[in-house]
Amino acid sequence: MKEKSIEDAALFAAMVAGKQGWVLNPDEEFRRVLIEGLTANWNRYGYFLCPCRDTENSREADADVVCPCKYSWGDVAERGHCFCALFLSKSFAASGAEPSGIPDRRGL
Ligand code: SF4
Repeated sequence: MKEKSIEDAALFAAMVAGKQGWVLNPDEEFRRVLIEGLTANWNRYGYFLCPCRDTENSREADADVVCPCKYSWGDVAERGHCFCALFLSKSFAASGAEPSGIPDRRGL
């Protein structure tokens, strides 16, 4: 399987944001850490496992947390950002509010 670069993962995140009508976290350093996590996860597991969660050791078991995870739509709609805060709603971003820690719906 072809390895992905940081640029590949950054492009992927930008495409997800564009497709969903979200925006990327404007904090460049914060975003870089998450993009590096996505890149490392792809190269380790072969899919974009969420950079804020642990693997359950199979693609099937991780299906709900492959980015964009199945919880992201609800979190962006209700909390203004996804669990990792990589993706923000446009209105949340425009408000200038800081993303806060939100509960992981995965375990709920
Ligand atoms: S919380 Fe979901 S949408 Fe956000 S980076 Fe992780 S997998 Fe992607």
